[in-house]
Amino acid sequence: NSEKIIKELDVQLAANKLDSEVKVVKTGCFGLCAEGPIVVVYPEGAMYTMVKVEDIKEIVGEHLLKGRIVKRLLAGDKEHTDITKSLEGVGFFQRQMRVALRNCGVINPEIIDEYIAYDGYKALAKVLTEMSPEQVIDTVKKSGLRGRGGAGFPTGLKWEFASKSKDDQKYVCCNADEGDPGAFMDRSVLEGDPHSLIEAMAIAGYAIGSNQGFIYVRAEYPIAVKRLQIAIDQAKEYGLLGNNIFDTGFSFDLEIRLGAGAFVCGEETALMTSIEGKRGEPRPRPPFPAVKGLWNKPTILNNVETYANIPVIFLKGPEWFASLGTEKSKGTKVFAVGGKINNTGLVEIPMGTTLREIVYDIGGGIPNGKKFKAAQTGGPSGGCIPASLIDTPIDYDSLIQIGSMMGSGGLIVMDEDTCMVDIAKFFLEFTVEESCGKCPPCRIGTKRMLEILERITDGKGQDDDIGKLEVLAKNIKASALCGLGQTAPNPVLSTLKYFKDEYMSHVRDRK
Ligand code: SF4
Repeated sequence: NSEKIIKELDVQLAANKLDSEVKVVKTGCFGLCAEGPIVVVYPEGAMYTMVKVEDIKEIVGEHLLKGRIVKRLLAGDKEHTDITKSLEGVGFFQRQMRVALRNCGVINPEIIDEYIAYDGYKALAKVLTEMSPEQVIDTVKKSGLRGRGGAGFPTGLKWEFASKSKDDQKYVCCNADEGDPGAFMDRSVLEGDPHSLIEAMAIAGYAIGSNQGFIYVRAEYPIAVKRLQIAIDQAKEYGLLGNNIFDTGFSFDLEIRLGAGAFVCGEETALMTSIEGKRGEPRPRPPFPAVKGLWNKPTILNNVETYANIPVIFLKGPEWFASLGTEKSKGTKVFAVGGKINNTGLVEIPMGTTLREIVYDIGGGIPNGKKFKAAQTGGPSGGCIPASLIDTPIDYDSLIQIGSMMGSGGLIVMDEDTCMVDIAKFFLEFTVEESCGKCPPCRIGTKRMLEILERITDGKGQDDDIGKLEVLAKNIKASALCGLGQTAPNPVLSTLKYFKDEYMSHVRDRK
C-alpha cells in the first residue's frame, strides 16, 4: 500500500507542478503500526495516519498547494485522521525515547547521504582517528550497554574477551535472525536504518582487531536484506568499508548470510555453525565464541538493536547513555507490542518504565474496555506478567525476579478473555516445532509437555498432569543443551505460577 501511496504522491505533485519543490522521502517504519500507512508533511510535521491512496489528492491539493493542514481526510473513516499535531505531539511517541530507532521513519535508508546528514559515520571517524581499541572497549563498558538479544550480557565485556583472545583472524557477527513470534524490532532497524548497524560493526571490528564481519539475517525479511546490501555497497563506495578506512590503516569488510527460517539459528553457536555452511545446530559451551567462535576463531556476536546503540554512545558519550534507565539496566529497550492492545507497534522506552505505562500511556489501553490480564515478554523463552505486577519496572533483573525475562523484546498483551493455558500451549507448540532435536531433554521432553497441555485443554486432563508438567519443566530447564531448550518450559512455569487455578479448572471440568 505504501508503494502505491508514493506513486500517487508523485502523480499528484506533478499534476500540481510541485514536483520540483516538494521532495518525497521514503522512510522506514514509524513504529505506530496500528495507524499505518503514515505520511508526515514537513516543515509542519503534520502526521496523517491510516492514509489511503484516495487521500493523496486532498493532502497535495489542500496542504501542499494551499498550506491548509487537512483536518479530516475524506477517504478516512476514523478519528485518527484528524491529525494536526507534530510527530512528537502524538501521545504514542510522547513517553518514548528513540535511541536505537532514532533514524527509523526519519531518513531514507537507501541513501547514505541522509544517514551522514544525521551524524552517520561520525562515531566511526572519531573512533578510528582519536581512540585506541582499549579506549573503545572502555567506552562501551562505561556505557553499561547489555545485549538486547535476550540474555543481557554486558557488551563491553564481551568485546574485551574477544580482544584479549590472541589470533591472526577474528570475526564480528550480527544476529539479525529475529525469530520470536510477534517480534519485529530488528527488522525495523534493518529496514529503516541499516547504516547504523554497519557503522557499529566496523567500530566493533576495530575494538577487537577484526577485519571481517557477517550479518546473519533471515531470508524472510527481503526488504531488510535488500536495504542492507544497498547500504553495504554504498559504504564501500564511500570508503567506509573496505581497505584503509579514513586513511587509518584499518580495514573492515562485511558480508550478508541468509538464514532459512530455523528459530534455533538465533542461538549463537547454531548461528555460527550455519554461517560456516553446516546444519545450524548448537554446540556445547565452553569454549565461548569470544575464544572459539566462527571457524574456531575469536568471534563476537551481538544483535541488531545492541549495535544500533553503539554510534550514539560514542557521539553523546557513555555517561549520557548510562544516565538513562536503571542502575543495572542502562539505556532504552525496544518492544514490539502486540496482542490485545489499541496501539500495536514498536515502542522504545527508557529501561525502568513500568508495564502499566507501556500498556496504558503508550499502548492506549485494551480494546473494547476490557481488563488487562497479563503480558508475555521474551516470546517463547519468556514468561507472563500478571495484572497484579503491572507496576513492575521493565528491566533485565526485575523481569527475571518475577519469572519472566526481557528476551529480544516481544511483548504480547492479553485481556480478561484470554485462557492462559492456551497461551502456554501456543508457545510450547512453537518450541516443539523449532527444536533442532540434538538433545533428548528438549526433543522428547517438550513434546511430552505439549501432549499433557493438549490433554488438559481438550478436557481430558488427569489429576496428576499438573505435577508431571512441573517436574518435566524443571528437568528440561536443567538439562537441555542450549538456550532454546533451557527456556522452552518458561511460559508453562510462569503461567503455572500465576494462573494455576486455570489449569486446575480445566482438569476439574474434564469431560
Ligand atoms: Fe537442539 Fe533443543 Fe537441544 Fe537446543 S536444547 S540443542 S534446540 S534439541
